[in-house]
Amino acid sequence: MNKDFDGKVVLVTGAGSGIGRAAARLFAARGAAVYAADLNAQGLQETADLVREAGGKVRTAAIDVAREADVAALLVRIGDEAGRLDAAFNNAGITGGTYALQDYPAEDFDRVIAVNLRSVFLGMKYELPLLLRQGGTIVNTASVAAITGPGGMSAYAASKHGVQGLTRVAAMENAARGVRINAIAPGWTETPMVVANSAQNPAFAALAKQAIPAGRGAAPEEIAEAALWLSSGASSYVHGQLLVVDGGMTIGG
Ligand code: NAD
Repeated sequence: MNKDFDGKVVLVTGAGSGIGRAAARLFAARGAAVYAADLNAQGLQETADLVREAGGKVRTAAIDVAREADVAALLVRIGDEAGRLDAAFNNAGITGGTYALQDYPAEDFDRVIAVNLRSVFLGMKYELPLLLRQGGTIVNTASVAAITGPGGMSAYAASKHGVQGLTRVAAMENAARGVRINAIAPGWTETPMVVANSAQNPAFAALAKQAIPAGRGAAPEEIAEAALWLSSGASSYVHGQLLVVDGGMTIGG
């Protein structure tokens, strides 16, 4: 395994499951000291066990990424303990319910925006001062819903469109200051939540997957690889982009 993250400190949010867990494992396997953050303490512990069993370095932080005090305190802790931050993967997110826009409960809308979009704002706000010390990268998790309007998912789509906007602004502000900032747009990814939903509605899941040119959903590791690439020196001239990783789901328009 390439150890190109040796000596680097990396923060991954949503690391207790799915794409974030896969990314935490991959960053650690490539030599990084990982700070794994998530609301779900049990999921975090499982991730930490997996990383350590593979010989990797990880510390956990049970935080709500939508709470400014939590995010600020975590970045103070990373500064105090590690003295640096080289890469951040702002990935925690929720889907929210599925309702027609006129039926969408406003409190649910606010929570999805807080967890998916406010979190990315807060993450970057508190990560940047540490990253600017020696340079680094940020990758934010958007979705194909950042470029499409899936019916019933107004809060989710709005939040992910917002992630793309924030990513562009942050990339513009920091491109000349040594911090590269990009986003990824996963398509259908076989994380525990998606697998459980598919099991409840197998006919819908089969139809949805047929509509993907690749004919299948992504493994979380395939999305994590894209985040790693955007966090690595291999993408050194890529700024402010949304990398779509969707098996071709959106290429037909
Ligand atoms: P997941 O549910 O497996 O993992 C998400 C993690 O985020 C969970 O561990 C959860 O506890 C954590 N989390 C949720 N709210 C949080 C909060 N307030 N504070 C801290 N942690 C919180 O889902 P996933 O598929 O791995 O999702 C990761 C990201 O990928 C999300 O931003 C999601 O919107 C995005 N995404 C997923 C898919 C997909 O098909 N799975 C597609 C496109 C985008």
